[in-house]
Amino acid sequence: MTRVTIDNAGPEDPPIADEQLAAGPDAYPVRRSTARRSLATRAVHTAVPTDVQGRPVSVPIYQTTVFAHDDPDLLTDSLDNPRGAFGYSRMANPTVRALETSVAGLENAVGAVATSSGMGAIHTALGANLAAGGHLVVQSSIYGGTTGLLSDLSQRWGIRITQVSGDRPDQLEAALQPDTRAVYLETISNPVTAVADLPAMCAVASRHGVISVVDNTFASPLLCRPLDLGADICLHSATKYLGGHSDVTAGVVTYADGALFEAGWKFAVATGVTPDPFGAWLVIRGLQTLPLRIRAATDNATELAARLAAHPAVSTVHHPSRPNHPQHQLATSMLDGYGPMLSFDVSGGKPAAQAVIGRLRLLQNATSLGGVESLAMHPASTSHRHYDAAALRSAGIADGTVRISTGVEDVEDLWADLSDALDG
Ligand SMILES: *Cc1c(COP(=O)(O)O)cnc(C)c1O
Repeated sequence: MTRVTIDNAGPEDPPIADEQLAAGPDAYPVRRSTARRSLATRAVHTAVPTDVQGRPVSVPIYQTTVFAHDDPDLLTDSLDNPRGAFGYSRMANPTVRALETSVAGLENAVGAVATSSGMGAIHTALGANLAAGGHLVVQSSIYGGTTGLLSDLSQRWGIRITQVSGDRPDQLEAALQPDTRAVYLETISNPVTAVADLPAMCAVASRHGVISVVDNTFASPLLCRPLDLGADICLHSATKYLGGHSDVTAGVVTYADGALFEAGWKFAVATGVTPDPFGAWLVIRGLQTLPLRIRAATDNATELAARLAAHPAVSTVHHPSRPNHPQHQLATSMLDGYGPMLSFDVSGGKPAAQAVIGRLRLLQNATSLGGVESLAMHPASTSHRHYDAAALRSAGIADGTVRISTGVEDVEDLWADLSDALDG
């Protein structure tokens, strides 16, 4: 039987050699200081389980910032090699690497870099590949935080930005310039669930030697694997579906190419956006139920979208499952499901939309998404409050648009809440 024994021998115990194992033929290997040292020293140098036999089924939280080595070369290696030994947790940590390896596996990536937030993932994916004054092509209507980062990059470093529609490879072709560094897309966009034509867009980028970067947050690796469709870099706000429980802020970047991965790792280490082991552990824990959550929430969203489309107070429903969604065909061929995010337009504009949200009892009025509980919000007055009328129109957002992050509750309870709120 495997046991972990934490040594607590007293001063009267016979001395053992430094770095030797604790007593007893069937005691578990535990490294401890010699009994000859003073209590003050022994209190600092706590016993540590060494070579754990028997694999932990759940990934342990390696809550340590630093790793000691008997072999000095291994310590050197740990500081420069993203696949090497562990030395300092900003560079590499076993819990964080377990998360990176798991997500890389889901997206068929050569490597992944975990970050402390989705914005950290976006900055890592782009920052490592931009140069001052360079050009970037960006899908119009992207996550608000990304718009903010891009406007900061363009003001600070003179990055020039051209916007194109995510399903228009012809627009991308026309937008490319000799110094275009990257194309930035979102698999499913916020809040009107526009679906990007990843195979066509990435093919144009690749033909011109331009890196394609895809924010896959809304789809998750369960519904879409952008690297398989030709993207070079994919990223997630793990705060959303990967974590799945509204309790951790984190991100992950995955790479199709080893050199891009190494550059991304160096950038994340240098800018200090690598995550804490506990945050990484929460995401790992969430990942284990990702398929169950995505399936249940997608089924709920598809059913709610159909019922909302038939409700007299609703003018338009935005969900890729709807036959009149602009990219319904593309979503059917490119995604393994239509996803849990949906939005709908209430007739009567902002006052009507806010009144509906105010009457909800089960769905909570909150930003963010991707948790097990359903949330509702009004984009025009929250996530997109800085947009002027023209920008709102081009993003497809009406004054009466309500966004729903569908959770995994019973769909009848969700519909009862929504229909009561719509009926007033
Ligand atoms: C939330 C979100 C982000 C930002 O992630 P944080 O974890 O909040 O930093 C980026 N992209 C999309 C699509 C998001 O929904």
